[in-house]
Amino acid sequence: DITHGRILYLEDVSVSFDGFKAINKLSLDIAPGELRCIIGPNGAGKTTMMDIITGKTRPDSGTVFFGSTIDLLRHREAEIAQLGIGRKFQKPTVFEQLTVFENLELALKTNKGVKHSMLFKLDSEQSDRLAEVLETIHLRDSVSRMAGNLSHGQKQWLEIGMLLMQDPKLLLLDEPVAGMTDEETARTAELFLTLKGKHSLMVVEHDMSFIKTISEIVTVLCDGSVLAQGTLDEVQADERVIEVYLGR
Ligand code: ADP
Repeated sequence: DITHGRILYLEDVSVSFDGFKAINKLSLDIAPGELRCIIGPNGAGKTTMMDIITGKTRPDSGTVFFGSTIDLLRHREAEIAQLGIGRKFQKPTVFEQLTVFENLELALKTNKGVKHSMLFKLDSEQSDRLAEVLETIHLRDSVSRMAGNLSHGQKQWLEIGMLLMQDPKLLLLDEPVAGMTDEETARTAELFLTLKGKHSLMVVEHDMSFIKTISEIVTVLCDGSVLAQGTLDEVQADERVIEVYLGR
């Protein structure tokens, strides 16, 4: 097992755009149930790394495994989502004209590839899942509200809920607390700590106090590879990290 029991395993991954190495021999792995935060200056390659994991961008070289058996480079973007990797972009993309319930229901249908969604009824297992997700994302009392009327934070939680409906093994989240109030940020930290263990999470964030509350290990990307890794205190004390944040 080349992945050593890791849920996500990248080794020596590189990709260039017009001769520019956006990802440069990147090696990184995530343990099952881990919540890993990724930080790094603009242009470090964080988005490109997520694009590679989700099959949106194909690397020029390297190894990308999901669990010990799935070679992600052999799969297309749509297949990778089906395999159990959910991705959330920074901006929430919920269906504003639908209720919270309908958004979650739709996320399930999309997964099952049901074309005639009007004819689709949730079975009891799916209803239970939906109820559980509603509770997890703190939106049980808002189940009948139009998504468009939710606060920014609630929309973000709903979108995470939509991913959870598909029960992903790995969740990739891009700046989940950007634009949130302090209270929403605190509730999001609580949410992530609930998800951890059952799911593996990779979170790109800039909010250091948020990171401190949720993550044991932080990976610092710079120039397309890992510059440092450790606890937040360790990486923040690392002179190379200080230099890339302050020296540019
Ligand atoms: P981050 O998310 O850490 O800010 P990105 O992954 O977006 O970094 O970008 C890494 C580098 O790769 C940047 O210099 C960016 O300009 C470049 N880059 C990313 N995607 C493309 C692309 N499709 N074509 C050309 N250059 C790209």
